[in-house]
Amino acid sequence: MQDPDCIFCKIINGDIPSTKVYEDELLFAFNDINPAAPVHVLIVPKKHIQDNNHITAEDEVIAGRMFTAAKEIASQLKIAEDGYRLIINTGRHGHQEVPHLHLHLIGGQPMQHPMG
Ligand code: AMP
Ligand code: ZN
Repeated sequence: MQDPDCIFCKIINGDIPSTKVYEDELLFAFNDINPAAPVHVLIVPKKHIQDNNHITAEDEVIAGRMFTAAKEIASQLKIAEDGYRLIINTGRHGHQEVPHLHLHLIGGQPMQHPMG
């Protein structure tokens, strides 16, 4: 379920410190160490899934929960009404730096437009 060499698995286990904003039986969420906006939370499955290419049908409850958790965290951090951006970077072209699936919840100011 976990990869002993993975930085996000270590954060989930408490071996590396983080600022937790949410936890349930499937997910752990914490503030990004290098925030791109006033709110920048990483929503991470407790199961080590490398990236979006490695999600299976078995993971559909986890994947769905990532979105409902994002809604709840956005509401908790009072950015739901103004809006926010949800991003999952995947692989080299997606500039994924940490090979453990994570959903970026970014907000607290208008996002750049257009994306790309
Ligand atoms: P990505 O490029 O989508 O893989 O995003 C990885 C994110 O993890 C980046 O935004 C980093 O700032 C963030 N990050 C890396 N190490 C840590 C850490 N120890 N605690 C919190 N966020 C981290
Ligand atoms: Zn991991």
